[in-house]
Amino acid sequence: MLDVSGLSAGYDKLQVLHEVDLTVPDGQLLAVIGANGAGKSTLLRALSGLLRPTAGRVMLAGRDLTGLAAEAIAAAGLAHVPENRLVFPSLTVSDNLALGGWTRRRSGTAAARRAHVLELFPRLATRLDQPAGTLSGGEQQMVAIGRGLMAEPKVLVLDEPSLGLAPRLVAEIFAALAQLKTEHDLAIVLVEQNVRAAFRVADEVVVMDRGRVVATGSPDALVGDDRVRSAYLGGNYSTATS
Ligand code: ATP
Repeated sequence: MLDVSGLSAGYDKLQVLHEVDLTVPDGQLLAVIGANGAGKSTLLRALSGLLRPTAGRVMLAGRDLTGLAAEAIAAAGLAHVPENRLVFPSLTVSDNLALGGWTRRRSGTAAARRAHVLELFPRLATRLDQPAGTLSGGEQQMVAIGRGLMAEPKVLVLDEPSLGLAPRLVAEIFAALAQLKTEHDLAIVLVEQNVRAAFRVADEVVVMDRGRVVATGSPDALVGDDRVRSAYLGGNYSTATS
């Protein structure tokens, strides 16, 4: 389980995150939503060690990861899938996946881990020898997530995986996330602008505004909260499942 308390971070003298608290039990998905510039990507960077927190604590399965280098945090079991699906375009899908395995914590062969990724994203199976840069946007996102999974993380944090993708691919990717949390007991933190899609798969939602958590609750509770709905979900948002 991921347990974050009082987390603050920023860039040079600019403080962006202000005392963020959140908890994600194993097997659950926490969606983080909020307007552009709310600090969602900054939160993920502070979790994964790309950005050093200025205050607060990040605990993973009882271990304090605060202030560790990104490689150490990855090795401890937190995989970060950053925005814009950063695959290595000239390397094949197979090599992109292999690169994700270097921090793996548990035993088991790379082949078994790769088989798991291909079971989750079957459309990658026929494209293993294709340069990743020639894949569609959705397929590249699958490679980026698959690469994170090759390290067998306990916690997966994803930054806007639906960005620019057709609804069918968004549905495929979110179905894979649902499978990962229930069948593999992963704790997932999902930053999303696509609120409807995120609410369908989330167990809990955090709303951020100017670097602070301004609301927390189940998707149904937040949709039922007039203040949250009008300020953060858009005026015509009537149900999480429509
Ligand atoms: P979006 O939904 O647009 O991706 P976000 O909620 O993820 O937004 P962040 O990217 O975390 O927001 O940005 C939060 C604030 O931090 C913004 O004001 C942004 O300008 C600032 N910021 C982000 N990255 C940097 C950086 N490398 N250097 C300086 N300021 C930054």
